[in-house]
Amino acid sequence: MNNNSYIAFREVSKNYKEFFALDKISFNIQRGEVFGYIGPNGAGKTTTIKILVGLIRDYSGDVFINGKSTSENRKQLYNLIGYHPQEAGFQEWRTVDHAFKTFGRLSGLSSDHLENRTQEILELMNLSEVRYKRIVHLSGGMFQKLRLGQALLHEPEILVLDEPLSGLDPNMRFQFKKIIRKLKQSGITILFSSHILSDVQDIADNIGILNKGRIISIGTPEELQNSFEVGNILEIIVADETALCKDLENLTDVDFVENVKSNKQLIHLKSNVDVDLSINQIIKILMDQNCKIRSFTLLKPSLEDVYLKLVGGETI
Ligand code: ADP
Ligand code: MG
Repeated sequence: MNNNSYIAFREVSKNYKEFFALDKISFNIQRGEVFGYIGPNGAGKTTTIKILVGLIRDYSGDVFINGKSTSENRKQLYNLIGYHPQEAGFQEWRTVDHAFKTFGRLSGLSSDHLENRTQEILELMNLSEVRYKRIVHLSGGMFQKLRLGQALLHEPEILVLDEPLSGLDPNMRFQFKKIIRKLKQSGITILFSSHILSDVQDIADNIGILNKGRIISIGTPEELQNSFEVGNILEIIVADETALCKDLENLTDVDFVENVKSNKQLIHLKSNVDVDLSINQIIKILMDQNCKIRSFTLLKPSLEDVYLKLVGGETI
């Protein structure tokens, strides 16, 4: 493991009586990267995050930021980290402006600085027009953005987001991710947790997959996809419903054939085969059988498929 990492977890464990919510987890986050922390509900994501931000102190192992143990520099943590908790905790009768002022003062910002920062963040979040609205009247998406804004107010170097997309509609998810990309460009380091891999797939530089308190896989999205042998699938749709193609199961490269509809077959290839060669062989068989092929598609397993395979499908 690289000891020069910006954030480093070293054999961190946390138990509740005899139950280990985290079991010797180790991982690194480099400065300026977006780290996607993925795992099904109950995997231990929030526990990890609370340890990082200093809310859980009773654990074993070490967490370092910039080479310094966080347990010896707790005060510094609050300046360094902006934290978006999984559960909301706002006094909803306040206006957005009032909430920012309160947080800003608590973070020790001067009033000039606070005003500039508030404007900057409201613009970034597209929230300027609701500045004087009561929080209770905000939509779910705006509310999430307000919470993100609050975490950013004191200009932290690290942003920790615990399931920030949960409950958001697709359009809001898209907007939220756009904001995260902008933040990344400004150099901030981001830890972003979710139980849905596709939430982080297109924004994370590295992804750590957690299951039952253990890190079971870690790497770039490409590395994760390549490291797991989820076989390729060929989808064949034939024009003539009666002419589903036979003799394919006998090919050595084919794992099994699934008849999905009367005119649609999925051919599951073994994970280690030369896909191009298999496609040639299969097309030859189909031609020999005079199959009328309407379409022939190679379905690559998505990262989500890899993840579901790893955690056994328990993501909801
Ligand atoms: P995640 O955020 O990935 O959904 P959590 O970190 O919240 O997971 O929880 C991990 C495990 O630890 C779960 O099984 C949860 O029930 C358990 N857990 C969390 N907090 C406590 C607690 N205060 N007491 C006992 N068990 C807990
Ligand atoms: Mg959680």
